Amino acid sequence: MSNLPAIEGGRPVREKKIYYGHQYLDQADYDAVVEVLKSDYLTCGPKIEELEKKICEITGAKYAVACSNGTAALHMAAMAVGLGEGNELITTPITFAASANCALYVGARPVFADINPETYNIDPDSVEAYIGPATKAVVAVDYTGQAVELDRLMDICKKHNLVLIEDGAHSMGTIYDGRPVGSVADMTTFSFHPVKTVTSGEGGCVCTNNENYYKKLLLARSHGITRDASLMSKEPEGPWYYEQVDLGYNYRMTDIQAGLLISQLDKLQMFKKRRREIVDSYNSAFEKIDGIIVQKEIEQSDTCRHLYILRLDLKKLKIDRRQFFDALGAENICCNVHYIPVYYFPHYSKLGYKKGLCPNAEALYEEMISLPLYYGMTDKDVEDVIEAVNKLVDYYHV
Ligand SMILES: *Cc1c(COP(=O)(O)O)cnc(C)c1O
Repeated sequence: MSNLPAIEGGRPVREKKIYYGHQYLDQADYDAVVEVLKSDYLTCGPKIEELEKKICEITGAKYAVACSNGTAALHMAAMAVGLGEGNELITTPITFAASANCALYVGARPVFADINPETYNIDPDSVEAYIGPATKAVVAVDYTGQAVELDRLMDICKKHNLVLIEDGAHSMGTIYDGRPVGSVADMTTFSFHPVKTVTSGEGGCVCTNNENYYKKLLLARSHGITRDASLMSKEPEGPWYYEQVDLGYNYRMTDIQAGLLISQLDKLQMFKKRRREIVDSYNSAFEKIDGIIVQKEIEQSDTCRHLYILRLDLKKLKIDRRQFFDALGAENICCNVHYIPVYYFPHYSKLGYKKGLCPNAEALYEEMISLPLYYGMTDKDVEDVIEAVNKLVDYYHV
């Protein structure tokens, strides 16, 4: 009974556990960090400028503002829009909570639009249906790294005078219809948490082509304080002079983090290529399995993939997602689920959000598991994951 699932007492497909994500650092990354540690600046130094220039080169954006994390990037973007009490921001429930929380930080209300049931990205038709007089911005998440339908969303936002913020936490390196993510939406935010494609430990960034947003992002990042004479209330009193012209935060990134990220970004194309190979192996294996649904990719998106979603066709299986997840774990394939619909959380229930808002998102949540996907996976690791999925679907097929 070699094909008995481990959870039923069989042998697991592998002895060593594999997890859903892992950062990849090499000697160049270690050296980059040590170089900064030995330099004059640990923060507010030249590495930040160098990093921002590099991000502009990669994304094609005019301006980049590095910051402490992806959540801060979203908060800064909401501040730059001028979002506040009485305003609404439309986003997707299939995301990390921060995409919606940025509205709450500034006193605005998040509104959840449903997803496209095949791509799992926010559905532009659903966005349009939720636009009302209070709507001021849309936060569209490039879920799993695949670009949202940017052209349609830009058109909708233009037509209704809304700001499009793209949450690119998953999509650094993705290109939409020839234009890199970061250069298309009004503002694009990134995260450099270790589970993301490139990392600075903690880190984030906002990209924009709009000088007005750029100035507001700089203020939001550093206490609302400026040395830019054009923003001051009076002539500087001397070379030491600065003014706090707004209320901002300390959302700065350190030069240590920037040094690491510059080095990581040198490997972005290498990461993208390997992630693509793994996704292609998964797709071609799972397309043949009755009981598994493969995520649809739109042709405009040349995707740098962050997550791989295994979607179970539960009508074809005798077990549910929880049981499948546990059975994979017993095979030593340790997965995750991205994401619990944001409005399911108790904090959102307290604010009046109820189950049933977004049927496509809720259906996806019941059926999905995030499989291991990261640069350092070997071909054997990929084969083990495929073998485990095959074994379980075979055994539990109706
Ligand atoms: C990771 C993530 C964030 C938050 O980024 P942090 O750097 O962890 O603050 C925001 N949105 C999405 C979609 C994410 O995956």
